[in-house]
Amino acid sequence: MKKMEMLYEGKAKRVYATDDPTLLIVDYKDDATAFNGEKKGTIVGKGVINNQMSNRLMQRLERAGVPTHFVQELSERETLVKRVRIVPLEVIVRNISAGSFAKRYGVEEGIVFDAPTIEFSYKNDDLGDPLINSTHVAALHLATAEELDTIRRMALRVNEVLRAFWSSCGITLVDFKLEFGRLDDGTIILADEISPDTCRLWDSVTREKLDKDRFRRDLGGVEDAYAEVMRRLREHDA
Ligand code: UDP
Repeated sequence: MKKMEMLYEGKAKRVYATDDPTLLIVDYKDDATAFNGEKKGTIVGKGVINNQMSNRLMQRLERAGVPTHFVQELSERETLVKRVRIVPLEVIVRNISAGSFAKRYGVEEGIVFDAPTIEFSYKNDDLGDPLINSTHVAALHLATAEELDTIRRMALRVNEVLRAFWSSCGITLVDFKLEFGRLDDGTIILADEISPDTCRLWDSVTREKLDKDRFRRDLGGVEDAYAEVMRRLREHDA
């Protein structure tokens, strides 16, 4: 597989074309941003961890019947993925209150919900990724009602699979963000990444935060937290 021109550089990844028009190469960086790019920094080794973690989790999801963009890990930081047209939504599933949910509704973090919640944000940096509902999604032609149903169903299935897996690692899956894409034939598959950048992960016993909140909130021990999550994943994903 030949790595060709860079198509896109985001906050945490670069995306390259390949000699196969249906495939792309994703290259994970150590750069970290928060608060819509206002806070910038480096988390040493993050690119390697997020690449490897995301790939293992996506393969686990595939085995559980969730189609993903994962094709093949090429190196520590590079992965071959299926080219999709991204649905411009951030799909957020929550099991426990935290972050913007706690802030928006004026509740403390750590409330365990009776059932998972799901919400959508419109992926648009200039607007700060505003919250959006299903009728707005339809009005703006971001996705059809049928596509949104598929996305909702897949996101909740991802939650079931990942919650059980992280639990076996002694980690509580608090919330996470997913992105979906369309193949040329319109099939919806899971894309982007699943990592401590995109999930809140708490130690099940100590409640210690093992995710990007350590960076966002200047809690220190950011690299150690990412490494610890990866260590536990390796141990239980043999
Ligand atoms: N998240 C993300 N990218 C975003 C916004 C949120 O990956 O642009 C993840 C975040 O890491 C957390 C979940 O989605 O696991 C819910 O985030 P929340 O809405 O609470 O927003 P935040 O507090 O991160 O601003």
